[in-house]
Amino acid sequence: MKHRIIFATGNEGKMREVRLILADLGMDILSMKEAGICCQVTENGSTFGENAEIKARAVWEKARTICEVPDCIVLADDSGLAVDWLGGEPGIYSARYLGEDTSYEIKNQVIIDRLADAGDSERTARFVSAIAAVLPDGKVLHTEGTVEGLIAHKPAGDGGFGYDPIFYLPEYKMTSAQIPIEKKNEISHRGKALEAMKKKLKVLFGEENR
Ligand code: IMP
Repeated sequence: MKHRIIFATGNEGKMREVRLILADLGMDILSMKEAGICCQVTENGSTFGENAEIKARAVWEKARTICEVPDCIVLADDSGLAVDWLGGEPGIYSARYLGEDTSYEIKNQVIIDRLADAGDSERTARFVSAIAAVLPDGKVLHTEGTVEGLIAHKPAGDGGFGYDPIFYLPEYKMTSAQIPIEKKNEISHRGKALEAMKKKLKVLFGEENR
């Protein structure tokens, strides 16, 4: 049987990345909109993985009950920035940090200010992405990807989004908002988590979809 994947996001940029990475699985990949699913989920988990699973499970339940894709695999991700000097903040609250409507200009400046006393070696941080997949039988798979960096002393670059301008990648000597998008996708936390999930899905469903 040819399985379908629904990726639980309303973000078209994320969908493009997902379609590109999962293309060789040979499965149809649908956004929530394409699957006709609308779903508001309260992300009340205490880890990235738990929140990803909560989102994936909610969409999976809907897919089984309201639309015609009962044999689907539902994938969801949850991601954020963890700053060591701040005990892992903003972490799972990355989007909600200082309020959902606060600009990233302000959020980023507040993080830089909170690291005023941190030495260069104490500015370590990482982007984390957790992906959960709920399979047709209800079982769940998890993967996680990270990218390591340092919190910059001032924001730089106008590419990317969110915390990219303050996330300095020592290996490339630029922030994640300065690095070309293709390169960012190649090294990104989400890319790594998705690649790992693709491997797991290939083992389970690869033959069936050829
Ligand atoms: P989401 O779970 O992918 O919606 O991401 C949650 C939040 O984490 C975003 O709103 C951003 O604040 C932050 N974030 C996740 N990934 C990135 C990234 O690649 N660059 C910058 N910020 C990110």
